[in-house]
Amino acid sequence: MTEESRAGNREKLSIESRLGLVAFTIDSEPHIKLKECKDCKARYCLFVCPAKLYTEENGEIKFNYEGCLECGTCRIACPQDLDWNYPRGGFGAHYQYG
Ligand code: SF4
Ligand code: SF4
Repeated sequence: MTEESRAGNREKLSIESRLGLVAFTIDSEPHIKLKECKDCKARYCLFVCPAKLYTEENGEIKFNYEGCLECGTCRIACPQDLDWNYPRGGFGAHYQYG
């Protein structure tokens, strides 16, 4: 397959399909821990996470760290100082390149 046709195939994939190509090795310990979300009015996390891992249920923020892409966007967007770390060695997202 030429570089050109490879690039063409990539362009046809939706974001959801691309995310489906990412493999994960799940750690038992969450690498991101939320703090006091109940008083947060901004709730930017609901809108900025590309993997849509933050959800709201009955006014409460729920977070699923297992599909985290390790992009760091929630860390920047959150008005609180999120307890944010990369997963431990060997865990987390495994991207396919090429
Ligand atoms: S933006 Fe931060 S503090 Fe606000 S709900 Fe989301 S994680 Fe919690
Ligand atoms: S680091 Fe990125 S993918 Fe992971 S939870 Fe935060 S915004 Fe979502």
